[in-house]
Amino acid sequence: MTKKSVFTGVFITLVAAMIYQWGHIDGLAGKPSVLISESIAADSPTKISPVKARARDFYAPNSEDLAPDEMRLIACGTGMPTARPKQAASCWLLELGNGDKFIFDVGTGSAERIAAMQIPYNYLDKVFLSHLHTDHFGDLDALFVGGALAGRQKPLRVWGPSGDTPERGTKYALEHLRKALTWDLDGRLGITDPRGYHFEVHEFDYKGINAVIYQENGVTIRSYPAIHALDGPVSFSLEWNGLKFVFGGDTYPNKWFDEHAKNADLAIHECFVTVPDMIAKFGFTPQGALSVATQVHTSPEAFGKVMSRIKPRMAVAYHFYNDFDTTAGILNGVRTTYDGPLSLAEDYMVWNITKDDIRVRMARIDEDVWPPVATEKPQVPDPSTRIPYSDMIAGGKLDVQDVIQPVYDEINKKYGLNEKQD
Ligand SMILES: [Zn+2]
Ligand SMILES: [Zn+2]
Repeated sequence: MTKKSVFTGVFITLVAAMIYQWGHIDGLAGKPSVLISESIAADSPTKISPVKARARDFYAPNSEDLAPDEMRLIACGTGMPTARPKQAASCWLLELGNGDKFIFDVGTGSAERIAAMQIPYNYLDKVFLSHLHTDHFGDLDALFVGGALAGRQKPLRVWGPSGDTPERGTKYALEHLRKALTWDLDGRLGITDPRGYHFEVHEFDYKGINAVIYQENGVTIRSYPAIHALDGPVSFSLEWNGLKFVFGGDTYPNKWFDEHAKNADLAIHECFVTVPDMIAKFGFTPQGALSVATQVHTSPEAFGKVMSRIKPRMAVAYHFYNDFDTTAGILNGVRTTYDGPLSLAEDYMVWNITKDDIRVRMARIDEDVWPPVATEKPQVPDPSTRIPYSDMIAGGKLDVQDVIQPVYDEINKKYGLNEKQD
């Protein structure tokens, strides 16, 4: 064999291998994750390159395009009112291929999960609250202030239900939440871009049945009542581009979800801690455990019954501590009444949804993440709006101006400024 023909043979083999790899990876796009291992297992081992990267079966935030017809849902909180390192409380980030992003619930501990997704905060300006338990809106203050500080240069838009009295409604809760933040917000005057530190509240009637509460950019969101703790909680449906996403919030199984969540592509419904675990691990009395886990909330057996009736393409269970020693009890309960597609949610679970496919993966996050660069130029703050220290407090400053001055000198030189110390 001549040198030339050896070279040609090697070249053809390499090109064939590359085409194979590309086709292979393309072929995986949008397929359920389980197919990946089957697909690879079916391949001849010699077709896997020892030096070329293969498709990886996790979601890395800020590394994957969203197709124009695709939804991506990320669990940013799946646990209980007592947030823990592994699970924040209820929070679901839904991204659409048209660029819209929606947050359903923002429970305690969820703001850091949202941060891990590396999405500019100007895009995270729409929050839908299922009800006003802190495990469903306890991190609203963190998203409100932290988001404004990191580049949301407009009000945070919040949709939430009315209550049976004005004091039990979303408008009252947010007006008073902002009042509770008076010291925080006053202290930022004249220092940061002020435009993000406002709520735009859309309170809607909790008794509305499949009532449209949002309609923009081809997206329609409807609400219907839920049955939980007091009058007020609701469930949501979001429809866009022929896809339907439903989020039950907290509820005892109810007729409205049964009717309006039917045929959802993806349906999230609570599925509470089992009664034996409520007694053994949470320390509840048997009476208290029965009441909370089966009457105020939905037991795994009842969750299965709900899903058997509405038949989603993917059922998502949440609102339990999802551990090695609790999952079997939840799954056994659900499987007594439902044998369809199921995800037992934990934080950072990711669903990519198209008309043809639902792919389920886990996100792998960067714990050292910084907020993304703002999508719009910040407004330069007006120093005249600053609220000064009292003479007594201002008089307590140590003199460190001599060591700060070199910092000013360096920055002024680098950026062509002439900033002076206060
Ligand atoms: Zn609740
Ligand atoms: Zn809850």
